[in-house]
Amino acid sequence: MTSAFDPHRAREDFPALQQSVNGMPLAYLDNAATSQKPRAVLDVMDAYYEHDNANVHRGIHELSRRATEAYEAARVKAARWINAASADEIVWTRGTTEAINLVAASWGLDNIGPGDEILLSVLEHHSNIVPWQILAARTGATIRYIELDDQGRLLLDDLPRLLGERTKIVAISHVSNALGTVNPLHEIIPAAKAAGAVVLVDGAQGAVHSSVDVQTLGADFYAFSGHKMCGPTGIGVLWGRRDMLERMSPYQGGGEMIHIVGRDASSWAAVPHKFEAGTPNIAGAIGLGAAIDYLDTIGMDAIVRHEHELMAYAMERLRAVPGIRIFGPESLEERSAVVSFTMGDAHPHDISTILDAHGVAVRAGHHCAQLVMKHFGVPATARASFYLYSTREDVDRLFAGLDEVRAIFG
Ligand code: PLP
Repeated sequence: MTSAFDPHRAREDFPALQQSVNGMPLAYLDNAATSQKPRAVLDVMDAYYEHDNANVHRGIHELSRRATEAYEAARVKAARWINAASADEIVWTRGTTEAINLVAASWGLDNIGPGDEILLSVLEHHSNIVPWQILAARTGATIRYIELDDQGRLLLDDLPRLLGERTKIVAISHVSNALGTVNPLHEIIPAAKAAGAVVLVDGAQGAVHSSVDVQTLGADFYAFSGHKMCGPTGIGVLWGRRDMLERMSPYQGGGEMIHIVGRDASSWAAVPHKFEAGTPNIAGAIGLGAAIDYLDTIGMDAIVRHEHELMAYAMERLRAVPGIRIFGPESLEERSAVVSFTMGDAHPHDISTILDAHGVAVRAGHHCAQLVMKHFGVPATARASFYLYSTREDVDRLFAGLDEVRAIFG
């Protein structure tokens, strides 16, 4: 299937991409924020609500049985997506943010104390900074950072100095949403492990654009969001090594996560249910399962190849735009399907507004990565990000819009 992949054909699967915006066909280049959803996902979610809607794991009746079966089948698909050893290692969360908060609150409060160190990088999304700051404030731990070079790559030469016996956890992104930098996890994880640290990978931008194999990665936790990979919002995954999850305290209490409830104390359900208090996002999980099925029919190899070719085309054209400043690694091998840029005196919000008038959707702002913006001395950038249904025509439309930005701002 891979050699026959055609993004124009894939586009037809996405109803939202068929519309015009401001009188122009939509060129949706804000995929790092969220992806569009294929008809296959929308249909599966509709069918669930129309035919099978019931609470999971609770009813003996037919609808509850069907809902539970579909919900747990989606967990098996999510496990397969990252090659987890077992579906029991897949904890459903609202997304990457909640997955990281879960680890910080549960594993963190049980294992971090005064004087301990939490190692992050300057490249992180706020979701992989703020939960650790909250934990540090509660426990007296210290946060340290891996710094960046002028291409937004991690300065790994500092690792031996930053990693020590006080380092209890290294929490690092797989791919930067602000710059597209692909972090060399194969170097960071073994170094962190050799120092005795636990490793959490923020895979919000990783599991979307590359094949992830958590069994060979060597980390303890991997988090990702369904909505960035053709699934619905409000569903994501925390993968944790089974022995880690089993040793951890629950994150929230309520229905579903208990074994026996007494007046003064209770005991917990087995993993992953121990971490899934309350009625879960059943339709969301089933929708994410359908998204994984959809992506499987295309194949990650085809998606990666397509994105790489499109990025090569976009970068070549971008580099030729007068007054442009491009952020992130120069080498395409070190970057994902994201490009952040500024243009002369034009504020990124103005760039985005002008592009919107051309029907081109890009993100402008700090991209929830204020430490990255500070590193480069800018308040914001404009960011174009691509996915399997992005085309050369989308890229050409971006450049037509940028011509107008240049005409206005010089
Ligand atoms: N980490 C990275 C690298 C991201 O790009 C994002 C979302 O943009 C997140 C974490 C947070 O993901 P969510 O908002 O789906 O929880």
